[in-house]
Amino acid sequence: MEAKTGLKRIGIDIDDVLIDFLPNFLIFYNKKHGTNFSVKDFKTYRYCETLGGTNEDSINEVNEFCKAPEFDSLKPFEGCQETIKLLSKKYSIYAITSRPPWLKPKTLDFFQKYFSGIQIPVVHTGDFFGYKKRKFEICAELRIPLIIEDNGKYALECTNSRMYAILFNKFWNKSYFHNNLFRTNFWNKTPRIIGSLENRLKNAKIF
Ligand SMILES: [Mg+2]
Repeated sequence: MEAKTGLKRIGIDIDDVLIDFLPNFLIFYNKKHGTNFSVKDFKTYRYCETLGGTNEDSINEVNEFCKAPEFDSLKPFEGCQETIKLLSKKYSIYAITSRPPWLKPKTLDFFQKYFSGIQIPVVHTGDFFGYKKRKFEICAELRIPLIIEDNGKYALECTNSRMYAILFNKFWNKSYFHNNLFRTNFWNKTPRIIGSLENRLKNAKIF
């Protein structure tokens, strides 16, 4: 028999959910290469499909950006700090990110700086960089029934595992749909979506 979660846990992605990652990466990238890529060019979140070159090339470019001061100065999206503070009163929040483990110190600094006083464990899947553990597997292990994402592929993997997902509308996730997937543009809209799912989350049988 499958166990019900009964737990109030929410997973949140970081890049392009808490911070405006891709647009800022593109400013950095375009300056370096004299190119003119825009987020509108991204139909998927696999950067090499838009930028060209290999996946490894994209990973190297992302790593370079993450080591630059421009990355360190990225701030949370509007409404996100207040909303997460509000949600944390009722739910345990887990950050689940495909950032590589070497970014852990910078990631912890970010949470310390902008979400101090809120307990948010950070779990690194490293998936973007080719590691093996998927977000839906981590959510299953941690018994998290809902994830807030921008990556349609990850969100769909979660909803296909009977989880629920809130997907921030982005150019790169327009083609992903599922009955358990809910879309929004703004952080301050998420508590209402989560509230409307409360019973379903409590009874989720995803594990
Ligand atoms: Mg993301």
